[in-house]
Amino acid sequence: MGTGPGLVEPFEARVREHLAQGRITFAPRHRVDALVTSGEPTGASAEASTVWSTRASTGVPSGQAVTGVRGTVLASDDAPRGVATNREPVGEFEFTAQAVLVTSGGIGGNHDLVRAAWPQRLGPPPGVMVAGVPAHVDGRMLGISAEAGARVVNADRMWHYVEGLRNWNPIWADHGIRILPGPSSLWLDATGARLPAPYYPGFDTLGTLRHLRATGYDHSWFVLTRRIIEKEFALSGSEQNPDLTGRDLRLIAGRLRGGAPAPVAAFLEHGEDFVVADTLGELVVGMNRLATGSGAPAISEPALRALIEARDRQLANPFGKDTQLTFVRGHRRSLGDRLLRTAPPHRLLDPANGPLIAVRLHVLTRKTLGGLETDLSGRCLRADGSAVPGLYAAGEVAGFGGGGMMGYSALEGTFLGGCLFSGRQAGRAIAAQL
Ligand SMILES: Cc1cc2nc3c(=O)[nH]c(=O)nc-3n(C[C@H](O)[C@H](O)[C@H](O)COP(=O)(O)OP(=O)(O)OC[C@H]3O[C@@H](n4cnc5c(N)ncnc54)[C@H](O)[C@@H]3O)c2cc1C
Repeated sequence: MGTGPGLVEPFEARVREHLAQGRITFAPRHRVDALVTSGEPTGASAEASTVWSTRASTGVPSGQAVTGVRGTVLASDDAPRGVATNREPVGEFEFTAQAVLVTSGGIGGNHDLVRAAWPQRLGPPPGVMVAGVPAHVDGRMLGISAEAGARVVNADRMWHYVEGLRNWNPIWADHGIRILPGPSSLWLDATGARLPAPYYPGFDTLGTLRHLRATGYDHSWFVLTRRIIEKEFALSGSEQNPDLTGRDLRLIAGRLRGGAPAPVAAFLEHGEDFVVADTLGELVVGMNRLATGSGAPAISEPALRALIEARDRQLANPFGKDTQLTFVRGHRRSLGDRLLRTAPPHRLLDPANGPLIAVRLHVLTRKTLGGLETDLSGRCLRADGSAVPGLYAAGEVAGFGGGGMMGYSALEGTFLGGCLFSGRQAGRAIAAQL
């Protein structure tokens, strides 16, 4: 759920302890623009987009080592966490070190880079996306590392969500929030056609992305009821989960009480992607108004009514043949899902369950699954397989380890593990080398 502060806390405490002991020098507002090799600057000329799309790297001549970093000191800034800070240069710096570990994150904040690397197997890249990561996730260090000889691999592997909302209260530009959906919402493409099995909410992120990209339109829709949103909508991000982020047991218990959690209710009230209506006719008018300019044909009320009625009819029969409803019933066999995550199956068109809600969904950029190729010690490798002396990489910039530890599809929610583990591997290897 992205409740990062709690995860960072134990590491932060240790870093602060080392700072107090004078063992660490912390240099905020220092932006690395180049890696220094054997005392010689390699320059910051590599455009990340070129490196990312062509995977070319001129590289440091063999025999030379990375011996430090150089860059720009940026003006101080008291912007809150996540908000893009100023890029105003106030000085330059150069640090020398026996080893440099790059942990600069992925590319999801730079949509041009995402589009440049977008793989054909996922269809054409979307024209409109929302950013699920802050502006600092800009992919710039990939080009800079490649200039120093590191090889970028598996650039076509990426993980983006298909349930992105435009944040009504954005922290960064184009800020998107991902819905962590329960299984009951009806999922329609931009033309109003229901998505085929198994592309139900929360089932297969990349499969659904591939399917939706083939429709030729950038957005899709959830159609649901008040009862579903109250039980099944959770939002990703630490600020969207004040109960978990703040470890507030009273607020957490509120999840059991029912009613939409406060962050979801705020989206219902302010979010530009939401349509709330008492009748299907009004809902469709609202959906078509929102989709104006998207190029998608207008959704037809009779067609949508027929689709929902066919789905609702299946509820009358315990042996119903609606695959999604069968899955919903399966979810409810698990106590946790029944209590917290899955609304009892009900008729969408029964006003007692209303009002009806439609939510326009965008592609939301998130994880970069490829990156700097490393060996098991986190040492960056050149195209010929030899290590770039002194240069290490870990975390998302290294594809969560190695240059693509997750493979093509990844496993939802396990990305931080790769960051921590690859960081530990690299840290131990560097300590052994010093
Ligand atoms: C809302 C949200 C929810 C998420 N939820 C989950 C989840 O539930 N489970 C999960 O496993 N993963 C989740 N993730 C993904 C996970 O948080 C990231 O993959 C992970 O934080 C990446 O860590 P990192 O240290 O490699 O990079 P980052 O956390 O991106 O850190 C990179 C750092 O490098 C700095 N930097 C970049 N370039 C330079 C430069 N040139 N000079 C100096 N500094 C630079 C940046 O300022 C930043 O501080 C989520 C991500 C988001 C945004």
